[in-house]
Amino acid sequence: MKSIQFLILALFLASASLAQEVSWSTTFENSDGKRTATYDEVIEYCNKLADASPKANYKVMGMSAGGYEIPMMILNKTGLSTPEDVRASGDLVMLIEGGIHPGEAEGTDAILMLMRDIVISGKHESLLDNITFIFIPAFNVDGLNRFGPYNRINQNGPEEMGWRANAQNLNLNRDFLKADTPEMHAWLKMFSSWLPDFFIDCHTTDGADYQYVLTYAMEVFGTMDPMLTRWQEKEFLPYVQGKMDIAGHLMFPYVSFRRWHDPRSGLRSGAAPPRLSQGYSAIQNRPGLLIETHMLKPHKQRTLATYDLLFFTAEYLNKNPDKLQLMIRMADETTASAAFRDRPFPIRWERDDNDSTMVEFKGVEYDVVKSDLTGGNWYQYHPDKPITYELPWFNKSVPAETVDLPEAYIIPPQWAQVIYRLALHGVKVNYLREETEVWAEQYRFKDPRWGRRPYEGRFTLQNIEYDASRDTLSFPKGSAVIDMNQRTARVIISILEPHAPDSYVYWGFFNAIFEQKEYSETYVMEPMARKMLEADPELQAEFEQKKAEDPDFAKSQWGMLNWFYSKTPYRDEQLNLYPVGKVIERKDLEKLPLE
Ligand SMILES: [Zn+2]
Repeated sequence: MKSIQFLILALFLASASLAQEVSWSTTFENSDGKRTATYDEVIEYCNKLADASPKANYKVMGMSAGGYEIPMMILNKTGLSTPEDVRASGDLVMLIEGGIHPGEAEGTDAILMLMRDIVISGKHESLLDNITFIFIPAFNVDGLNRFGPYNRINQNGPEEMGWRANAQNLNLNRDFLKADTPEMHAWLKMFSSWLPDFFIDCHTTDGADYQYVLTYAMEVFGTMDPMLTRWQEKEFLPYVQGKMDIAGHLMFPYVSFRRWHDPRSGLRSGAAPPRLSQGYSAIQNRPGLLIETHMLKPHKQRTLATYDLLFFTAEYLNKNPDKLQLMIRMADETTASAAFRDRPFPIRWERDDNDSTMVEFKGVEYDVVKSDLTGGNWYQYHPDKPITYELPWFNKSVPAETVDLPEAYIIPPQWAQVIYRLALHGVKVNYLREETEVWAEQYRFKDPRWGRRPYEGRFTLQNIEYDASRDTLSFPKGSAVIDMNQRTARVIISILEPHAPDSYVYWGFFNAIFEQKEYSETYVMEPMARKMLEADPELQAEFEQKKAEDPDFAKSQWGMLNWFYSKTPYRDEQLNLYPVGKVIERKDLEKLPLE
């Protein structure tokens, strides 16, 4: 009898411990890589980790547009969980993000396993020696909740996955600089309080077929601090490339092809604008690694490769934390220095289409097929026929335009949406105590033209031309004064210089300045125009010339009368005028009455 009781007890204990072991397996592991975690499973798993380990803390980063918690996990060897405590500890801070595009699910699955292997199984516990981790396993939780089998037509698994955009149908990986979504507001608050030393964003690519399971991008094209750029190129990337080779994951830089879908046409890569994750962290002087796995490889293979690249990156940073931290500090100081503002700043970069290097590219055979369905060409890939191509790779960028930097920008208070976002990005803002005159530069736009379709919910300005002039300008009380003497100078330029690729002028924040609010009636302008012509023969000549040069103008009654209106004192002096001023001299800036 007793022995039977013992046997039952032993069986019970064995099954209990088995159940406990199984309970740390993730959805991905339980399905042999066929399934990815749902939103509820992510939340449950993160809470379970935080309950089980004093090294793991569960935080709510913020709420999504659709009203869901965005989970954030802080992993620290002694359980520290605030930016202040962690900074004081000297740890390097590493931010790893999955699920900004939840259909591209491997980041989420890799993160859950890696967190467990750090704080539960002990397999990678030593990574906590010098690193505090911030994990965002599922950034776009609205998209993750739009779970289904038909969200990624080009992709090989998992069985079901989330959707690309958030509940507002906005793409969070276009929102880093313009910050239109509540998700990005939460993210930017997190980022500017923690200032992570290294950021990884996990994705899956679309496009052509080739052998590589994983491609990556870092900003090595000129948009980032030169010393950090060199560190990425010469130290960090060779290390992880070597490790990935040994682990058997074919890895290559993230490239596009000179002809879409057509690797033989040659490879291209270039600078990312700050609307994108790695482009954004670059202008914050923090290395950002973009992971793009290859959509045609199975979800399991993609996730395991992602896991390994996350691990190798953490391994490298844990072994070499001091150098990166020192270089970031120096980059921050350099960016805030007078020397930074003295040089013309390259505001736009373009690929040098004359400068390529020949590289080996592990592709697959393919045919270009003339379609009898559409009449167009399509690409039929043969993944069973791998082939190594010798291809030109165009991977050099050159400055396409530079701009002279001011000592400060001034923004009148009515542009509060812009000022608020600058603060979200960690920019220090001061305010004018009273209405003040200052010698400053200002732009007046000409010939503005917009895109015909909305892009990310906005009508973007496509033709941005302006004349610059300098004058003593008056700015009202409460205007925001943005001193360039700060580590976020690259962010400030990216937002406020109209020609920057993601400027707020481009995104349409200032669209209202292009609207004419008053106009003349014909019965007023007809007699007035005649009087103006009588009084001014030069105006007559100008009018005739304009009609001769511009046939549309010559046919437009409204256009002609409005032209006369624009020559009267009734015209709007503020039309097309950029309200942001550039203070040129530091001595003028220092005299401003700031509160
Ligand atoms: Zn993506």
